[in-house]
Amino acid sequence: TEVDHYSVEVLYNGLRHHDRGCLARAITLVESKNQTKKLQAQVLLNRILQVEKTKKATAPTSFRIGLSGPPGAGKSTFIEVFGSYLTSQGHRVAVLAVDPSSLQTGGSLLGDKTRMPELSRNMNAYVRPSPARGILGGVTRTTNEAVIVCEAAGYDIILIETVGVGQSEFVVADMVDMFCLIIPPAGGDELQGIKKGIVEMADLVVVNKSDGDLVAAARRIQTEYISALKFMRQKSPNWKPTVRRVSSLHNDGIEDLWTMMGTFKNAMIDSKEFSNKRQMQKRIWMWNYIRDNIMDLFRSHKSVKSKITEVERQVVDGVISPGTAADLLLQEFIKDS
Ligand code: GDP
Repeated sequence: TEVDHYSVEVLYNGLRHHDRGCLARAITLVESKNQTKKLQAQVLLNRILQVEKTKKATAPTSFRIGLSGPPGAGKSTFIEVFGSYLTSQGHRVAVLAVDPSSLQTGGSLLGDKTRMPELSRNMNAYVRPSPARGILGGVTRTTNEAVIVCEAAGYDIILIETVGVGQSEFVVADMVDMFCLIIPPAGGDELQGIKKGIVEMADLVVVNKSDGDLVAAARRIQTEYISALKFMRQKSPNWKPTVRRVSSLHNDGIEDLWTMMGTFKNAMIDSKEFSNKRQMQKRIWMWNYIRDNIMDLFRSHKSVKSKITEVERQVVDGVISPGTAADLLLQEFIKDS
């Protein structure tokens, strides 16, 4: 397979000149499952990295923010107003999504309709519809690479949205500088849908819909989360997670929230945690890719595949131990790899 270096260069130049068409094509390229296109995507990504390396000394130019929350919390409404506010402040905003629903049901929890219609029309924003269904590893890998592509195209704020289902929010937390949890002002049973592990990962909890009749409930939830966070292991030595109330519908509290995010970012940069975290994330992702690829190779390996069902049954029936079974299959894999 021969990589077409010329078209990669054309694409790269288009990105540098903030050409939206080129951005869309570049993301499609990193999302591609076609072997040749995948190689081409890697050439493009390395081309971007090369240039990044030369401006290394300066402070990070982008801010990656993860936004997670249950369906109906108001994520898309929030992103619509927050994104518009950021562009009014001179930022260029890219919105990407990790949609975990494609894993189980094939449907979409984030919705197939164009969410955030206003932001989509904004010349300083780019809203990427969530990628086609696939395995979480694959989808998230391409999201990770789409971030790099967006940054090369001059987007300085990257918002990555996900629904708090399965592993998706943990995956997103590993690709952002700041992780925010967006919750509605609902208590009791509804609150239990939010896993404690996710709250622990949050740098900022945003209680949305703090307006009208819901203000009292929003205050109550805010207090609950403030005290819950007190009892949790602090994620960073340089930051105490906070809880803020906003109303996306009435565009209320958005500016304060952004100020708070700025305080977070500065604390991270000053303590070097910002760059350390990015370095660590790159290592995590390298190993994620290796693990995903090896698993794919293993599962599709011919003689492993022919034995998997039988060996699995023997383990379940207690005929052989799980360890022995694993050794057996691994031997098949190594034998003629
Ligand atoms: P998502 O599933 O998290 O993306 O939630 P949506 O953004 O689609 O919002 C779900 C519902 O909550 C919609 O009917 C919104 O109009 C409503 N909503 C979103 N933000 C607010 C808010 O700040 N206040 C009120 N009262 N309703 C809101």
